[in-house]
Amino acid sequence: STIAGSDDAQMVRQQLRDADRLHHVHSFTDHSALQQNGGAFIAERGEGSMLVGEGNIRLLDAMAGLGCVNVGYGRKEMAQAAADAMQDLAYYHSFQATTNPHAAALAERIAKAAPGALNHVFFANSGSEANESILKLVRAYWRAKGQPNRQHIIARDYAYHGSTLFTTSLNGLPPMHEAFGLPLSGVSHIEAPYWYRQGGDLDPEAYGKKAARSLKDKITELGADQVAAFIAEPIQVTSGVIMPPESYWPEIVAICKQEGILLIADEVVTGFGRTGHWFAQNHYGIEADFMTLAKGLSSGYMPIAAAVISDKVAEMTLQQGGAFQHGFTTSGHPVACAVALKNLDIIVQEGLVERAAKMGAVLHSKLNTAIGDHPLVGEVRGMGLLAGIELVRDRKSRSHYPLELGLCSHVANAALMQGVIVRATGNSLVICPPFIITEAEIDVVVAALVAALEQIYGQLQAG
Ligand code: PMP
Repeated sequence: STIAGSDDAQMVRQQLRDADRLHHVHSFTDHSALQQNGGAFIAERGEGSMLVGEGNIRLLDAMAGLGCVNVGYGRKEMAQAAADAMQDLAYYHSFQATTNPHAAALAERIAKAAPGALNHVFFANSGSEANESILKLVRAYWRAKGQPNRQHIIARDYAYHGSTLFTTSLNGLPPMHEAFGLPLSGVSHIEAPYWYRQGGDLDPEAYGKKAARSLKDKITELGADQVAAFIAEPIQVTSGVIMPPESYWPEIVAICKQEGILLIADEVVTGFGRTGHWFAQNHYGIEADFMTLAKGLSSGYMPIAAAVISDKVAEMTLQQGGAFQHGFTTSGHPVACAVALKNLDIIVQEGLVERAAKMGAVLHSKLNTAIGDHPLVGEVRGMGLLAGIELVRDRKSRSHYPLELGLCSHVANAALMQGVIVRATGNSLVICPPFIITEAEIDVVVAALVAALEQIYGQLQAG
């Protein structure tokens, strides 16, 4: 047997699994089920689009981790960039007018790539921290403008913006609130532009306008002088790749302008090429006051995120004198910034944004051909290398099985048994593979989904 599969290696793995089961608190995990199932899966290596775990289990990772490993696993040049940066300067902070070469260069790179007047970059370690930082800047902005009552933030149903107290409050996913007595006050949620579930008899374009007008209604209800900002992901990924009808964003942008409220575009998933555009804002013609970046900034190779701030906001909050009383020990970490720079080099040199557009078209066409008419598939949607598959009980009435049935999880588990990782979320499956995925690998993903859907459909038919 191979070393990885040897008896010794199996014994070490069992010890690690026990250590993990007894001491490691996992994100978004049912810990009692984890105990009963004997512990966690141990991921060990990655190569290209493949994740290797438990010695020799090879899985095609059509989720790119959590939508972050865009340049693919196992890039030696990324490891080298980290090693070089760490040897030069393992750490220094960015407090009190200090910087490092990588942070300075990365801030400029991001500002040049970002839409519109988004020219100022604050570094954080996670998307949650970047959003939390933006929310503090929103408050600072309105105080500096002499309108301190503008504190209310409007978010949307089905949103995901993070796991800190305030960003959790912005999430439009009630199960994330219940155990913690959230949301905090000062947050409201409006309808998401989820045509498939909520569009009724309206065509998508008419529904998109209607969903956008719920922002206007909420501002009127709260009083515009109380509202600070609207936060939204251009495409809501965590809840199943909710594609806004094309009529939605122009209407939202117009309402934010009319009412004078700040717009925060959370591009944690959609940023850096996922949709086949550098940013989803480029596609929708949005120029937000803030943009949140994480995941694809380093392709997940290092924890790093960015709050990108417009000239208008920077002018009010940063250039008026007085210290910006905010920051993290590891903001602008030299190693993380060096790795992010290398990641952006790779994306540019290999044309990976264009590749995401091209391979995305291949993915959508193959998905539509193979499963578009399957009785369990209501809709295949998405943009670039981002796809959502809505699973239904009845295609005609667009009705669903009860969530407790866990239909999507059953299908995702069946796909996993075929060696392919996809994600179940609510009533949908999500696919967002590395940008380097090949056409042959896309065929493997599609074939696994076909088999998984057939298997679960068969079980449903058998009762
Ligand atoms: N915003 C969006 C749109 C996200 O999808 C996520 C994470 N999935 C976050 C923010 C939070 O990022 P992190 O997990 O890095 O805190």
